[in-house]
Amino acid sequence: MTAVQEKAVNSTAAQEVRRLRATFATGRTRSVQWRLDQLKAIETMLTDGEPAIAAALASDLGRPANDTFLGDIAPPLAEAKFARKHLRQWMKPQRVGVPLSQFPGRAWYDYEPLGVVLVIGPWNYPVYLTIGPLVAAIAAGNCAVLKPSEHAPATAAVLADLVTRYLDTDAITVLEGGAEVTQDILAQGLDHAFFTGGPEVGKAVMAAAAPHLTPVTLELGGKCPVFVAADADLDVAARRIAWTKLLNSGQTCIAPDYLLVDASVREAFLPKLADAFRDLSPNRDGGRQLPIVSSRHAQRLADLLDNHGGEVLLGGGAEPDQRKVDLTVVVDPNLDAKVMQEEIFGPILPVVTVESVDAALAHITSGPKPLAAYIFSGSKALQRRFRKTVSAGAVVANHVAMHVLVPELPFGGVGNSGMGAYHGKWGFETFSHRKAHLNRAVRPDPRLLYPPYNAITQRILRFVF
Ligand code: NAD
Repeated sequence: MTAVQEKAVNSTAAQEVRRLRATFATGRTRSVQWRLDQLKAIETMLTDGEPAIAAALASDLGRPANDTFLGDIAPPLAEAKFARKHLRQWMKPQRVGVPLSQFPGRAWYDYEPLGVVLVIGPWNYPVYLTIGPLVAAIAAGNCAVLKPSEHAPATAAVLADLVTRYLDTDAITVLEGGAEVTQDILAQGLDHAFFTGGPEVGKAVMAAAAPHLTPVTLELGGKCPVFVAADADLDVAARRIAWTKLLNSGQTCIAPDYLLVDASVREAFLPKLADAFRDLSPNRDGGRQLPIVSSRHAQRLADLLDNHGGEVLLGGGAEPDQRKVDLTVVVDPNLDAKVMQEEIFGPILPVVTVESVDAALAHITSGPKPLAAYIFSGSKALQRRFRKTVSAGAVVANHVAMHVLVPELPFGGVGNSGMGAYHGKWGFETFSHRKAHLNRAVRPDPRLLYPPYNAITQRILRFVF
């Protein structure tokens, strides 16, 4: 056995996966009651654990407690409640019709758990984006390994502690660590890998899953555009954009990445946007010195402002060593500047003036498909045109990011922003195998359906099949 093979067999990941596989083999995670109990336990865990989670997120991300409730407690709690309410309905086998060739017979499909699955979480909403997929994995009857992000280490430690205290640890485990731990878990050949993070790491996860044919769901990122049309309600647009951009210092995968503003409303809109940022920022200062996850990311954001070629409307400062960056609005940067080419994932907002709807649509559709695209417009016809023209994980009219809170909508990307989806029943489907069943009656069993065929039986076969 080579050293690599030996590690794959004896590592903590290997032992944990073996332990979970043994639990899955007992069949206990398949029962409805086990699933309901674990979902209820997640709700209790999140409610009881909120103070510890808030403290950990304050340490990891500098996040205020109320934002933690909004971003990391309320959404997975709602997911767990929704799943518990609908689980029995989701699990019902679905009868389907059979063609003449299969008469008499009965056909149906049902949902089978996949086995032992992996959830790889990012650092930006480290509880929501780990426990949300776990809700779906449990609802579907799986055992699960959670690998929270090493970039939010205090939260990862709290998650490991809470899961141990509240959930069935024979079926659910948390493995802390970085990329090498994730790679080691993937090397065990799991039954599904659910990844949330950036497209580059997504490729590494997919490559590590490929040798085992482990199916993947990739929840990735990208540049989410917001188009502010000539007939938009500018006050509402400014407020909603500012609020969702300020949340978690802009480190949100579905936050506005950049704005396209119709030239006819540019002058009226920019002061409203600046006012909204001043009004809604934590110290009513327009968002000075917002906390960033690490100095490396703060430096990356500062670098994005190099040679942008635009005019700074708000902010502009960064102190990477202090993990701080100002909310910065840059008006009309060069379209080939870094800030317009790379996903921002922080409190920087470029605003680009567009001369027409056509120009806005052409800009959006010329880039990779975003995770979400937003339009502010009072015109139903324009909203429809935007929806039909722009391919994105989601399209929202007159708000930003709120689709994430509708559990009946699939949440996921397309193209560069990801593959697969979850939330509500979509998550249950993602973590289930849709198993096909056909039961045929033994009689009748006419001889003429079997070879050798003559001219008459061939005609009958052509009619029946
Ligand atoms: P990250 O650096 O925390 O990485 C995510 C996870 O991948 C971590 O658990 C990490 O340990 C693991 N990882 C890193 N390198 C790896 C490798 N080589 N092999 C295997 N695993 C590896 O998070 P990030 O990627 O910086 O997150 C930010 C990105 O996530 C942004 O692009 C953002 O848009 C995206 N995002 C998407 C969603 C969504 O729901 N679609 C949500 C949040 C964030």
